[in-house]
Amino acid sequence: MTQKLIDPFQRAITYLRLSVTDRCDFRCVYCMSENMTFLPKKELLSLEELDRLCSSFIGLGVEKLRITGGEPLVRRGIMTFFDGMSRHLETGALKELTLTTNGSQLERFADDLFAAGVRRVNISLDTLNEAKFAEVTRWGRLPQVLRGVEAALKAGLRVKINAVALKEFNEDELFDLTEWCAKLDMDLTFIEVMPMGDIGNENRIGQYWALDDLRARLAEQYTLTDLAERTGGPARYMRLEETGQKIGLITPLTHNFCESCNRVRVTCTGEIYTCLGQEGKSDLRAPLRASESNQLLEEAIHAAIGLKPKGHDFDYSRQELGGQMSRHMSHTGG
Ligand code: SAM
Ligand code: SF4
Repeated sequence: MTQKLIDPFQRAITYLRLSVTDRCDFRCVYCMSENMTFLPKKELLSLEELDRLCSSFIGLGVEKLRITGGEPLVRRGIMTFFDGMSRHLETGALKELTLTTNGSQLERFADDLFAAGVRRVNISLDTLNEAKFAEVTRWGRLPQVLRGVEAALKAGLRVKINAVALKEFNEDELFDLTEWCAKLDMDLTFIEVMPMGDIGNENRIGQYWALDDLRARLAEQYTLTDLAERTGGPARYMRLEETGQKIGLITPLTHNFCESCNRVRVTCTGEIYTCLGQEGKSDLRAPLRASESNQLLEEAIHAAIGLKPKGHDFDYSRQELGGQMSRHMSHTGG
């Protein structure tokens, strides 16, 4: 038996988040600057290398695989990769294959994703106002994303909407977003904005809106029941009794969730980050390319997990961006 991945703090690593590209067809103000420099294509792992990498992780006990980016669905040939991963779903080694997407390409790919075994998808959408959507994503267009949401639902995918909570931007849409999701039977998760990357000085949107405040406002209109359910990550869930829908709050800055962390992130160049809030990383591309067998790669994965830190350092409490990360969210995929 291949040895499973257990970190120094006895946490089993069963969840891999893989970024398949650093490119994107949007330029969300909290994520990217207007003029991003992207990696030369040769730096990226090929589709075959991504397959080998994921297959190795699955062999070592990873049961959940989330594909992210950049925008994963703009990576050329990405459906070949999804189709390849479905063999691990068929054997039962992989329990869930999923992705986080801005939704722009879902109209095209939703049916193919379902056919590859994807059953749930997270779609990022911060506002239902067309002008505000164009402002926050810079290059995105709301109708295209709404068609993507519709296509996903029609294909049979369960949809969760992820909205970044932005003060003075989508505060006034809290109930509209909630009700829209309830109507379409979609779950909804709010994410606290995180200090990631240099996104330029022009950024006026992107102010921190504490989710405790958001929760208090929801409680004025709805009956909220906290759910015990945890996913090993920074999300807490509650049920809105009036609509029956599940609302998630991702608060990596104000709540400590590190004890139960079950995940690692790998970038599109094969760097493994074992903690979202720490700079520590190891290279998996060199061992991947060094030999056709996966032995060196698996040793490198074990070595990296052996260095997984206990927790992260984000801290807003001192009125400065304590623990600010220099890398962009699109680099590690959030
Ligand atoms: N392009 C895809 C998308 O937007 O869903 C996948 C990658 S994106 C980096 C993953 C998630 O990170 C999105 O939900 C996005 O809203 C979120 N995100 C990006 N920058 C963030 C930041 N600074 N703080 C909090 N969430 C952020
Ligand atoms: Fe692209 Fe997603 Fe970043 Fe927006 S949040 S710029 S859609 S990677």
